[in-house]
Amino acid sequence: MSILVLKLPDVKRSAEGRPKECPFCHGETFQRWGETEKPVRDTRCRKVRLYRYRCCHCRRTFRWYPEGISIADQTKRLQAFAVLCWVFGMSYRKVSLILSAIQIRLCPMSVWRDAQEQAQAIQRSNHWRPVRVAGVDGAAVLGWGEKQSVLVVVDLGTGEPVALGNVNEYDLPALTRFRNELKQRLGISVIVTDDLFTYRWVAEKLELGHQVCQFHVRRWVGKALREFRETIPEEWQFVLEEVQQLIDDLPPDGGKRLYSLWKRMGIKRENRAQPRSEPEQLREMLLRLSERWEEYCTFQHDGEIPWTNNATEQAIGRMKMRARTVRGYKNWLGMQAGLLLTGTNLI
Ligand SMILES: [Zn+2]
Repeated sequence: MSILVLKLPDVKRSAEGRPKECPFCHGETFQRWGETEKPVRDTRCRKVRLYRYRCCHCRRTFRWYPEGISIADQTKRLQAFAVLCWVFGMSYRKVSLILSAIQIRLCPMSVWRDAQEQAQAIQRSNHWRPVRVAGVDGAAVLGWGEKQSVLVVVDLGTGEPVALGNVNEYDLPALTRFRNELKQRLGISVIVTDDLFTYRWVAEKLELGHQVCQFHVRRWVGKALREFRETIPEEWQFVLEEVQQLIDDLPPDGGKRLYSLWKRMGIKRENRAQPRSEPEQLREMLLRLSERWEEYCTFQHDGEIPWTNNATEQAIGRMKMRARTVRGYKNWLGMQAGLLLTGTNLI
């Protein structure tokens, strides 16, 4: 379960403790080399005290910052606050305006930069955490046109989005590169997706385990069966019942049983110029289900694999809330930051 945490970083007014190692040479002994006050932009304090240290080994000096303070003018607390306002749907300009009401000057560009930085930090931390089972799904973005979608990768262990790809679901070479990178960086061994043919192709190519989301399968098979019930001749109605039963139970030998149904329905196509008859279409569906049966049942051998891609859809749902409030993102960078920040609880 992933929630948005509203705790802002702490800010200390003066530096505590001593540096552990020199940022230049990793030396471990220092002399204090004076102290200064640094004016900061923050919701509570106006200035902080910091110390300079000199490394006894390389003789260079450096600043030792209090908690919540960096080289930037604004504190980490203010950065997080500004980003939070933005995540809740304010434009960069509005965030800047709201802050000016409490006498803090932060230009829209700084808010943008802070959002970028936080999103990058999330991505960096994600890259170090291995993800064994990942849900992958495409998400459409408002105002980006029908064909443009973003690929969202969710860690199904935690429910958090771990990567976004500016990749179209149907663009095979791009999809392969993206997935290849994911496999190397995150160590993914199983993906859970809907049953779009491209995912299957990529899973095979990268030798990943693959679970096809059973909600998707039930949805489209259920719809197809309802339509066949109206149109298929009486002699084949029993096939519909059996398919329904197999999809409900997902037995390990389901693929074989579907294949024998396919053989049993050995209908000769009479006129190839005609569109396919209903029984012929049903027969085709039997073959397709039979071929994919293993991908429907991967979860039965591994308790960590969910049988649906629900967690991924929920993560995308949280992201879309943000996308709706700003009527779409202007560019990929802004969107990447927004989606990552909304989808995680790392704020
Ligand atoms: Zn040094």
